[in-house]
Amino acid sequence: MHTEMLIGSRFEAGTETEEQVLNPRTGELIRGIPEASLNQIDAAVLAAEKAFATWSRTTPGQRSNYLLKIAQAIEDDADGFAALEALNCGKPINAVKNDEIPAIVDCWRFFAGAVRNMQGSIAGEYLPGHTSMVRRDPIGIVGSIAPWNYPLMMMAWKLAPAIAGGNTVVYKPSEQTPLTALKLAKVFAEVLPEGVVNVILGRGDSVGNALINHPKINMISITGDVATGKKVLQAAAKSVKRTHLELGGKAPVIVYDDADLEAVVSGLKAFGYYNAGQDCTAACRIYAGPKIHDKLVADLSSAVNSIQYNQADDTLNEIGPLISKRQRDRVASFVERASELPHIKITAGGHVSGDRGFFYEPTVIAGALQQDEIVRREVFGPVVSVTRFTDPEDAVAWANDSDYGLASSVWTKDVSKAMQTAARLQYGCTWINTHFMLVNEMPHGGLKQSGYGKDMSVYALEDYTAVRHVMINHG
Ligand code: NAD
Repeated sequence: MHTEMLIGSRFEAGTETEEQVLNPRTGELIRGIPEASLNQIDAAVLAAEKAFATWSRTTPGQRSNYLLKIAQAIEDDADGFAALEALNCGKPINAVKNDEIPAIVDCWRFFAGAVRNMQGSIAGEYLPGHTSMVRRDPIGIVGSIAPWNYPLMMMAWKLAPAIAGGNTVVYKPSEQTPLTALKLAKVFAEVLPEGVVNVILGRGDSVGNALINHPKINMISITGDVATGKKVLQAAAKSVKRTHLELGGKAPVIVYDDADLEAVVSGLKAFGYYNAGQDCTAACRIYAGPKIHDKLVADLSSAVNSIQYNQADDTLNEIGPLISKRQRDRVASFVERASELPHIKITAGGHVSGDRGFFYEPTVIAGALQQDEIVRREVFGPVVSVTRFTDPEDAVAWANDSDYGLASSVWTKDVSKAMQTAARLQYGCTWINTHFMLVNEMPHGGLKQSGYGKDMSVYALEDYTAVRHVMINHG
């Protein structure tokens, strides 16, 4: 297991407080890993600054080749990366191996191709006697900060477009899930020129805070909580840094009476509880039409009761535990407060599970009303609420009545109703008769307090590059 940070071409241990990295499945310590000092953060930024001078002048084709090598290295050691991610996050091994790793490898390969094929405005003589052209150039040094729910995938989403675009990066994984980032750092040291990617470790309020406030950082990219995103904006304001924010979500799911109930139930079982609901696009806030509502609650509750978790044979598990005791207790407190409301009925789950690790029962909360906390706040756990609507106008209005704006879905057999609803939803993504599905060619990102950075797709490459105008006087 690699536990040292990558600064330039050097691997070195942090010199400050040790963070206890735990196995969420058992609660046991995997390893204590010390965090970076201010000097080490400085050294990482300086290494990125030095590398920028040459990396920013490589061709897209050259950078593309580096990205392809990184993709290949991950694919070649897919089992090793999957096992480490499963250990550190408690994810079922099959989910990491079959869902995450292929998508991660594809992300690196997508950006390897996309950077060679960027599109833009046409060069021309917009002023007589002068030719104008538009360039897209790197922004500089990116300080990149990731959460704990999909560590290796967030690393691909953030690093691939950043370095494809010619930037250099200082990357900080979540202090709770640094292990696959440290393993990938070994690959970076072998494959990339020195300093293009630097990996430093530590907590948000110490190392993260120093990174976002560092005067030499030109852009901050963060996936995390809304409150953290706001701190990033405050730090960025001091020196007008660019920001790329991917914050939380509370995805509404509108189920009209004419939806295919079986498809809805199997969709919600999968998309509401995947990764134990620790997903900002999780299908967690259901609005069900008056005719379908009761059957949906009954069928969903029995489907959710059948979700496999905490089995000794991990290949049987569909979901894992929460990442930490703190997160599990947070989820439990949301459900407890909801259950105290007279109109609410917990129809599946509703309790902490077992006395080992950080498991929580997959839970369905029926009878929830729009103003309830469980409908409004992000739980980030295996908890789905169902709210009945009678007027479809209410469903759309309630879906939009949220601080968040990341993902949403509509379930109906009526195409025109689906399209009309999708057009009115204020979300970065709306799925129709599905939820949660992502592809590297399409953008992922939010509106409102979910942030505005786009991950994946050419739009991410645009976010990580600056549009510049060059004008030639024919004189
Ligand atoms: P978090 O905001 O606590 O932490 C995210 C990262 O930010 C961590 O690396 C942390 O160390 C760092 N951080 C925390 N405080 C900081 C500070 N003051 N300065 C600099 N860095 C700081 O979030 P989390 O608990 O790790 O992740 C869960 C959250 O992330 C959820 O709210 C979830 O919705 C959100 N999320 C969003 C997306 C998306 O695409 N929009 C994807 C995954 C997770």
